[in-house]
Amino acid sequence: MTPADLTFDQQHIWHPYTSMTRPLPVYPVVSAAGCELQLADGRLLVDGMSSWWAAIHGYNHPRLNQAMKTQIDRMSHVMFGGITHPPAVALCQKLIAMTPDPLECVFLADSGSVAVEVAMKMALQYWHAKGQPRQRFLTFRNGYHGDTFGAMSVCDPDNSMHSLWQGYLPEHLFAPAPQCGFEDDWDEMDIVPFARLMAAHRQEIAAVILEPVVQGAGGMRFYHPEWLRRIRKMCDREGILLIADEIATGFGRTGKLFACEHAGIAPDIMCLGKALTGGTMTLSATIATRDVAETISNGEAGCFMHGPTFMGNPLACAVAAESLSLLEESHWQAQVLTIEEQLKSGLRPLRDCEQVADIRVLGAIGVVETHHPVDMGALQAFFVEQGVWIRPFGRLIYLMPPYVITPEQLAKLIAAVAAAVENPAFFRR
Ligand SMILES: *Cc1c(COP(=O)(O)O)cnc(C)c1O
Repeated sequence: MTPADLTFDQQHIWHPYTSMTRPLPVYPVVSAAGCELQLADGRLLVDGMSSWWAAIHGYNHPRLNQAMKTQIDRMSHVMFGGITHPPAVALCQKLIAMTPDPLECVFLADSGSVAVEVAMKMALQYWHAKGQPRQRFLTFRNGYHGDTFGAMSVCDPDNSMHSLWQGYLPEHLFAPAPQCGFEDDWDEMDIVPFARLMAAHRQEIAAVILEPVVQGAGGMRFYHPEWLRRIRKMCDREGILLIADEIATGFGRTGKLFACEHAGIAPDIMCLGKALTGGTMTLSATIATRDVAETISNGEAGCFMHGPTFMGNPLACAVAAESLSLLEESHWQAQVLTIEEQLKSGLRPLRDCEQVADIRVLGAIGVVETHHPVDMGALQAFFVEQGVWIRPFGRLIYLMPPYVITPEQLAKLIAAVAAAVENPAFFRR
């Protein structure tokens, strides 16, 4: 890539959450293999991000590549209305087998945010079909469920700037974020405000929507699994649906295949995305129980009112099915456990650093929370100089590497984080 290409990019191409007038630098990546990204100038960066939870098997995996090549020579796409195809059937069979038992009706969509829209729409249609329309969702503060309007309406109101959308976003119910951490002793008081909110609005709430155990982009917080058991019970008692957004946590990242398993519960609707295709293509799935699916189908509309153009894209389904096979055949549990141990031993000593407010590790997720927000541009440049790809945001520097990362590569990531928190120049006061 030439300097002119980069200038063009700055002037014409939006990147996630960026300004068109004051864009931060972007780094040209020309290829990626295993756990390394290659920059246009030839430098190799060890990947600490899995491209946002997605590339669990590493990049350029021969089996994933072959699955796409084989499928592309058959057909890369065909409409899903009135048509089905082997990759969709194979993928959905696997998903139903892997996910908690009562989940068995799969809706394939294009991205995580759309999977959340679909789940919310299912909950609304469910109540409409029962002849008792309910239109509100109950969730936590500090949540993140995507950037489309429905999803955004249940994201943390401050992080996603609900003030910007006033009068446009539906107003849902926000309980305080769980304070009781994953490894803390369970604190009965933690759930009181949530329980009160549910009790006060029990006739209006269509569903509770939450990220099980790990609140991701809304703060990288890990909460006590007892929360999920309690919420499951409260929802059962009131007949309120439970939507688990496992888009970030699904497929082993937290040490369990799905984070709901930490609590031994099953939601009524589960959203999957991100690692679903092993980080190769965009695809998501919303999986509902038979009861939810049948109630919707027996309602006034007579069907579920959603159907994206690229629904069930064969290429994406083929590579997703292969990625799930790879996961099943791999030693992902041992890999995630090894990463967890190395993250704990490597990051915990940083607790004593002046810049550091908290260290949290769960599965293959390591988080350093700092007292002050990072200077993203400066810190990103430093990480690239150190030969690593780590993308901090706000007061969070975090690692979530591919499961196939080597101890040496992970040591390099941890060393770069340690060096960063030693330097006050990377933090804004
Ligand atoms: C990333 C994410 C989404 C949105 O997925 P996109 O594919 O970016 O639309 C939704 N929920 C959670 C928990 C996520 O981490």
